[in-house]
Amino acid sequence: MADKVNLLDFDVDGLIDWLAARGEKPFRAKQVVRWIHRFGVSDFDQMTDVAKKLRATLAEEAVVSCPQPIRDAESSDGTRKWLIDVGNGNAVESVFIPESNRGTLCISSQAGCALDCSFCSTGKQGFNRNLSAGEIIGQLWLANRLLGATADGERVISNVVMMGMGEPLANLDNVVTALKLMLDDHAYGLSRRRVTVSTSGIVPAMDRLREACPVALAVSLHAPNDKLRDELVPINQKYPLKELLAACNRYLTAAPRDFVTFEYVMLDGINDADSHARELISIAREVPCKYNLIPFNPFPNSPYRRTPAERIRRFAGILQDAGLVATTRKTRGDDVDAACGQLAGQVLDKTRRTQTIQPASTLRS
Ligand code: SAH
Ligand code: SF4
Repeated sequence: MADKVNLLDFDVDGLIDWLAARGEKPFRAKQVVRWIHRFGVSDFDQMTDVAKKLRATLAEEAVVSCPQPIRDAESSDGTRKWLIDVGNGNAVESVFIPESNRGTLCISSQAGCALDCSFCSTGKQGFNRNLSAGEIIGQLWLANRLLGATADGERVISNVVMMGMGEPLANLDNVVTALKLMLDDHAYGLSRRRVTVSTSGIVPAMDRLREACPVALAVSLHAPNDKLRDELVPINQKYPLKELLAACNRYLTAAPRDFVTFEYVMLDGINDADSHARELISIAREVPCKYNLIPFNPFPNSPYRRTPAERIRRFAGILQDAGLVATTRKTRGDDVDAACGQLAGQVLDKTRRTQTIQPASTLRS
């Protein structure tokens, strides 16, 4: 099994090539992709319109293997969160957030993250490894199964956001393969506008994403000037705001939406003064954008506190009075630690004091 290929690692073009090397026509790849992604079938015997000979080849050389959940928690607000085993004591998280008009799945791109943003639990755990394309798309594949997608393709997931663990643009090739499957009509058929990549601002990779597979873009701004952003989002030292904003404008020339979403974590007494809001207004003059204010989610040993709700309202008000769109992210799934980067942070200790995965419930304070 170890040397079999995992078909979840292929987008349609990749599978066309793999099958062409075995003398198969392109339409076979489309059939197989439909079985795997649209109908959720992993057993080749069930792929009834695929020729028997090809099914035998597939069984011999390939598998459809998706990482397994080790914890499945449902919040009282309907948010569902899975902790997914990716081997060697590593786990990543996926979160499903149902709303009246859409169902959003938030997925991870890396086990850990190397970028070390000062307020981020994932960053504090350090970097472990990139997820494979199969492990990324596998989160959508699995969530569809676990949420009871029906064989005729009825789905509850209408939107995907790459806002789980990791920096998607630091794992661009695998992320692009997974994005292509999300968009492909033979697989998930999601609209480009409903698939969002969130980045802390790796400028050259933003350009590559624009060329390879433009989807909606969210940028983790978190500070309105270089001095503060250097501190909170250290990648800013390499790609400062001026370059980041220029990259956003280049991205928008190919993007499915005509604005960038700037994420802005609200840290009490750090980046939440009226003067910061005014600086954000100037930034909005340079890049068409919407602001999404994220109340900080505390985690053990973090040096920050969440900005009080009243101050967040005032901050949002300053932006709105200037004619900007500023929304505040609802803190959902708090009772299952479904807020960004939280659960894995509690169950995994990358400081190597423990290497084992433990149920989060035993660790929660
Ligand atoms: N690495 C990517 C995507 C993953 S994080 C990025 O940084 O954009 C998704 C969002 O959650 C980012 O905006 C991130 O900065 C934010 N975030 C991280 N830690 C947080 C915390 N403790 N509280 C609130 N938001 C946080
Ligand atoms: Fe990595 Fe994003 Fe966390 Fe920064 S905020 S450490 S880029 S996951």
